Amino acid sequence: MKTTDQLETLDALVSLCKRRGYIFQSSEIYGGLNGFWDYGPLGVELRRNILDFWWNRVVREREDVVGMDASIIMHPKVWEASGHVGSFYDMMVDCMSCKRRFRTDHLARDAGTDEPPKTCPECSGDLTEPREFGLMFETHVGATKDSQAVAYLRPETAQAMFVNFRNVQMATRMKVPFGIAQSGKAFRNEVTPRNFTFRSREFEQMELEFFVHPEEEREWFDFWLQERFSWYGDLGIRQEKLRLRPHREDELAHYARYTSDVEYEFPFGWQELEGVANRGSFDLDQHMKASGKELGYFDDARNEKFVPSVIESSAGLDRTVLTVLADAFAVEQVGEEERTVLRLAPHIAPRQVSVFPLVKKLAEPSRKLYDELKKHFNVLYDAGGSIGKRYRREDEVGTPFCVTVDFDGLDDGTATVRDRDSMEQERVSLDGMVDYLRERLSLER
Ligand code: ATP
Repeated sequence: MKTTDQLETLDALVSLCKRRGYIFQSSEIYGGLNGFWDYGPLGVELRRNILDFWWNRVVREREDVVGMDASIIMHPKVWEASGHVGSFYDMMVDCMSCKRRFRTDHLARDAGTDEPPKTCPECSGDLTEPREFGLMFETHVGATKDSQAVAYLRPETAQAMFVNFRNVQMATRMKVPFGIAQSGKAFRNEVTPRNFTFRSREFEQMELEFFVHPEEEREWFDFWLQERFSWYGDLGIRQEKLRLRPHREDELAHYARYTSDVEYEFPFGWQELEGVANRGSFDLDQHMKASGKELGYFDDARNEKFVPSVIESSAGLDRTVLTVLADAFAVEQVGEEERTVLRLAPHIAPRQVSVFPLVKKLAEPSRKLYDELKKHFNVLYDAGGSIGKRYRREDEVGTPFCVTVDFDGLDDGTATVRDRDSMEQERVSLDGMVDYLRERLSLER
C-alpha cells in the first residue's frame, strides 16, 4: 500500500474541510471575510474534543490548577498596564508594485537575515518604509462613542488570570505553586492572516498561568515545557513533526525572561503551536502599580511575602485543530483505487463510529444497534450507497470504526467492525460491542 502523508500545500485539506463540513470560510456567500472561519458539524466536534482533552489534562486531572472564564471585554486600563496599548503592534510594509502586504519580522525570517529585505519577495518591487500596525480591535462601551468609552476585544486571555490572581487564590485557598487556566476567544487584527486558519483574526486560546516562588521558576518552566510538549504527542501528532525551539534573546517578548515554542512542521515550514514562557513577576507588578491593589502572596510555610513569578503556557485551539487535521491527512493507493483518509487519534475523532446495514432489509437490527451505541459515542447511521462507498466516506472524515450489520450476524448475534487504518474487519458480539469500542477508542489503548 503506497501512502502519501506529507501535504505539499494545504489546498487538498482546505477542500476536504469545506466538502465534508469541518471548516468553512466565514460569510462565504458574501465573498468571505479575511481571517475569520466557521466550524461545520464535524469541525465543531473535533474542536470541542481537543478543548476537553486540554481542559482535562491541565485542570481537572491536577490538584494544583483551577479554571476560570473571564469576559472578553475588560477594563481598558488592563491593556495599558499590560503594555498592549503602547506596544501591541507589528511593523508592516507594502509592495508598491504588486500591493502585497508583509510583516517585516516575517520577511527577515524568510530571508534568513537580521534586517528585512528592501524589495518584495514575490515580484521584486520596491517596499514602503515600515509602519506600525496596531493589532487590537477597538470597540465602544455604552451609548456615547467618545474616547472615554473606548474598549478593546482582548488580544489574549492571559490578563484575566493576572488581574484575578488574588480573587482566585482567596476563594480557593490554593497555595503557591498553583495555576489558573482558561480558554476563550482572542482577537487580533493581524496584518497578514493566511495559511487557512493558522493565522486568524478571531481565534481561541488555551492558556495556563502557573504562579511559583521566584526560586522555583526554572524547574516549573522545565516541567510545563515537557508536559505541554507531550500533550501534542498524545493528540496523535507524529513525533518527528514536532520540536521545541527556545527563543533567542533578541526575539523575547518584553515580559519574558525566557521562552520556548512548541513547533510543528507544516507544508509552509516550522511554525509555533504554543509558547511556554517565564514571565517573571512582570504582569502582577504592572497591575499592582496601575491599580494600586495588592497582588502579592504570603507564604505561611516560608513565612515570607513575595510577588509570584509566572510560568505561562499559551496555546491556540484553532491552530491545534489545523495541526491535527494536517497531520492526519493521507492519500493511499488501495489496489486500483485511491483513498483519502484522516488518521485522527480515535479519542478525539469527531465521529467515532458509523453503523451500516449491509442492505436495506437489515435496517431494523441496524437501527437498534445504532440506538444503543449513540448513548455512548458520537455515531452516524448510514444506509446510502454501496458498502465500499460508505467506508470511503467515513475514511475521508476520519471515523475510526464502521460497524456493518449483515445476515450472518443476525444468526449468531454479531456484527463486523472495520478498522479505518488497517481496513481489517473483525466479528464482534453485539452484547460486547460497547465495551469493545470503548476500549479501542480510548487513549490508553
Ligand atoms: P506571532 O508572533 O506569530 O504573531 P505570537 O508569538 O505573538 O504570534 P502568542 O501571543 O505567543 O503569539 O500567542 C500564543 C498562541 O496563540 C500561539 O502559539 C498560537 O497558538 C495562538 N495564536 C496567536 N495568534 C494567533 C492567530 N492570529 N491565529 C490563530 N492562533 C493564534
